[in-house]
Amino acid sequence: MNIPKLAVVIPCYNEELCIESTVKQLLIVFEHLIKLNKIRRDSYIYLVDDGSVDKTWLIIEKLHNQNRLIKGERFVKNFGNQKAIIAGLEAVKALGCDCAVSIDADLQQDEWTIEKFIDKYMQGYDVVSGIRNNRKTDSIFKKVTAILFYKLMNLLGANIPPNHSDYRLVSAHALDVMAQFNERILFLRGFFNDVGFKTAYVNFDVKPRKAGKSKFNIFNLSTLALSGITSYSVVPLRLVSVFGLLMTIVSIVLGSIAVCNKIFFANFQHDWVIDLITSCFFGGIELFCLGTIGEYIGQIFLEVKGRPRYIVDKELK
Ligand code: UDP
Ligand code: MG
Repeated sequence: MNIPKLAVVIPCYNEELCIESTVKQLLIVFEHLIKLNKIRRDSYIYLVDDGSVDKTWLIIEKLHNQNRLIKGERFVKNFGNQKAIIAGLEAVKALGCDCAVSIDADLQQDEWTIEKFIDKYMQGYDVVSGIRNNRKTDSIFKKVTAILFYKLMNLLGANIPPNHSDYRLVSAHALDVMAQFNERILFLRGFFNDVGFKTAYVNFDVKPRKAGKSKFNIFNLSTLALSGITSYSVVPLRLVSVFGLLMTIVSIVLGSIAVCNKIFFANFQHDWVIDLITSCFFGGIELFCLGTIGEYIGQIFLEVKGRPRYIVDKELK
């Protein structure tokens, strides 16, 4: 296999405090890999500005003017981290590369692991997924939600590697295959694990965020989790039917007991509190089931409209 041309894709949302030092650090990693003959000299960095409202884009322009191996594009507005990574991967596919690595702008993921990614790529792997060694740097909230999410996903039959964020290498072949998937809401962790590429896993250490704040709050974390579930599992829909069936059986059994009591023992007592609790309980389950179906309908609604995944305002090639 020839020495690969590497493209590093970085999604950036209000990262004015991080970008410059991140790019500098990645260029040091590039130099190291070029010296070892592991990547080509024309390897480059591609920054996707996901509609930042701070100086992120100005810094990207400045870096591009200083060094043409730093490229990028800007979205017209914030489309979210998944869309930014997808846009970056699509852009580097168009610009040309042998493999692409996606990494966060705050460089929380250990950048030196890229060397191990490249080694695996050279052994013929199309996808190399980074697996974090621990969650020491995460808040309690993040730790608990992450554990629950991975457990739930795997229970529901969506096979995603636990503790894998979007730090991974993908080959040009994997990028070609990705281009054939037209779904608007593409959940990358599910996609790259599900398609059947030859995949390797590499562990890496997580560092605390260099500067700035995490861009993920409970709202966008749950949106990401829901899109992951609805794109890769229909088990919740089946559970709705199972719930329905169980409720019917329970009501038939309880109804029969009540009728028997009335006929044979005449000691049937009507308690309105029990009535209220039961109707609230079943009403709650019904609404939950409706909401579950609604999530899938919402996904269909968004897909059917076929709007572009993201809109690019400017590009620096
Ligand atoms: N990000 C993005 N769009 C968003 C939110 C985040 O492109 O709407 C980027 C962000 O700039 C960073 C990466 O996604 O490069 C991961 O975000 P962050 O570090 O805030 O997440 P955390 O590490 O807290 O999970
Ligand atoms: Mg981070």
